[in-house]
Amino acid sequence: MSEKNLTKIQELIDEQNSWRSQCINLIASENVASERVRAAMGSDFMHRYAEGHPGQRYYQGTRCIDEIESIVTESMKSIFNCKHADVRSVSGTNANEAVFSKMIGYNDVIMVNSTPGGGHISHHRFGAAGKYTRNIIDFPLTADGYHIDVAKTEEIITIARPKVLIFGKSLFLFPDPVADLKEICEKNKITVIFDAAHVLGLIAGGKFQQPLKEGAQVMLGSTHKTFFGSQRGVILSDTDDEKFWNRIDKGAFPGSHSNHHLATLAGLALATEELDTFGADYADQVIKNAQALGAAMDKAGFDVQAKEFGYTQSHQIAVNLEKIGGGKAGGEKLEENDIICNMNLLPFEPVRKVTKPAGVRIGTSEMTRVGMKEDEMAQIADLMKACLIDGKSVKADVNTFRQKFQKIHYSFD
Ligand SMILES: *Cc1c(COP(=O)(O)O)cnc(C)c1O
Repeated sequence: MSEKNLTKIQELIDEQNSWRSQCINLIASENVASERVRAAMGSDFMHRYAEGHPGQRYYQGTRCIDEIESIVTESMKSIFNCKHADVRSVSGTNANEAVFSKMIGYNDVIMVNSTPGGGHISHHRFGAAGKYTRNIIDFPLTADGYHIDVAKTEEIITIARPKVLIFGKSLFLFPDPVADLKEICEKNKITVIFDAAHVLGLIAGGKFQQPLKEGAQVMLGSTHKTFFGSQRGVILSDTDDEKFWNRIDKGAFPGSHSNHHLATLAGLALATEELDTFGADYADQVIKNAQALGAAMDKAGFDVQAKEFGYTQSHQIAVNLEKIGGGKAGGEKLEENDIICNMNLLPFEPVRKVTKPAGVRIGTSEMTRVGMKEDEMAQIADLMKACLIDGKSVKADVNTFRQKFQKIHYSFD
């Protein structure tokens, strides 16, 4: 039995490696790491433990990871131009957990982006934030659905007196109005948290809003969506208030982690140096590609969202497939043809439609990293049209097209 399982598992790993390298991957939360970063994850660090901070560990044998952790911490501070960085979170959700546990008091009122408005589950009742409070209010949206309504938010703040605002989202096309709400937040002593899980690499590259400059006290996020991997989280702050940062530090360890997965930390350290060197060019191309893909899909007959705003200012676009079977069927049809993306609720859809939403979310991070530019985005739009609108099989064409893009760009490989 175990022999059979062993063979099967090995086959599945091999199949995954070859299959996904032949696909057009458009999952907005995914990216691909360089060979160098991947190799670090198979290093001896994958067997080891470290807790606490470099130089103040609870285990012996941490000399090398201590140095690496210090380097990546300094590089993060330099890239994000801030005083504090904690690199010990093993995912974006864990980073949220570490911060929320210290910033959200029992049943405090907090404001977040709603699920149909693009918010992440960790900000909601059933996720990390919901462990600390039930008093979660959604930001009101403007009529187009892709922006927070600032005037209405100010009204709600005056009435509901929230303690914490959590900006950032998973369907994230345009910046959140952190700067516009800075004054009212300061006046009311509201803690502003910015969840940059999706856009961390764009912020690092200087091509998206800069939340820590705009008034957020804490920014956190995943390191593998528009950042270059590995799969982890990071917490950043430019605060002068040492007590405030100490609380977050305790939230990260011992609050939400003990050992912090050293092999992926070594991978992140390498990825951070890649980002430091290539991040601006990469972020620029990712956004150009998303805008080009939006325009090309629009031209091909798709209902690409937020057209009046130029489709997007991030790595993502949203497409409403309601008229051609909805997001679930559309996503499945695309997968049969080796184009991988995910269904997504669109603004103002009821949350109960989460398993059968109208839309799909499409991201350009990974295809940009393998070297694709605007011309390729036009070809991807044509393939999607042939598949979803004309009902043709395009799998062979997808595989041939993808074959030419195997090298990881924006890296030292
Ligand atoms: C993806 C995401 C997260 C979770 O990050 P993981 O690294 O998957 O745990 C948190 N917040 C937002 C807004 C996200 O999009």
